[in-house]
Amino acid sequence: MHLQKFVRNHIEYRIAPLTSEQSRINPQRGKKVKQADGKDELGEIINRSKILCVFPFQIKEQKTELPSGICQTGRITEGETTIFPNLHPFSENHVVGVMTTEHFLNLDQFLSKLIQNNLVASRKYILAVNANDRNARFPTYLWGYMPSSAGSIIHTHAYLW
Ligand SMILES: [Zn+2]
Repeated sequence: MHLQKFVRNHIEYRIAPLTSEQSRINPQRGKKVKQADGKDELGEIINRSKILCVFPFQIKEQKTELPSGICQTGRITEGETTIFPNLHPFSENHVVGVMTTEHFLNLDQFLSKLIQNNLVASRKYILAVNANDRNARFPTYLWGYMPSSAGSIIHTHAYLW
């Protein structure tokens, strides 16, 4: 599986390997003059949130477990991904799928294996929920990264329900 892309009139067209959806990117936009680069503010957010991050505690010490009907071992893991119950659920079967042990990753640090492991673990969870409750037929996988995508927790994770 690889990303298909081509350039036409200085616009880069990318075809998503999973969905065949197309997106357009103008690489020249990265060179335009900026009034503010936001790097200092972002660095502060990352450092501050790392100190307050609850995921290492929730994964290593709190040990909340999935119901035994969903997972006999209490947690679904795949590579660096760990799936565990959301402490503040807003839906039945609402869990967190933390993608990596690193608090923050730059975009070029998201190796395909990290994302693949998160998707594989999430699939296992979704299938287990459905096997346990045949009425649970419409799963949701939600991944937003960083405040600009409404991600209020910096540490990379997906929500599933
Ligand atoms: Zn963290």
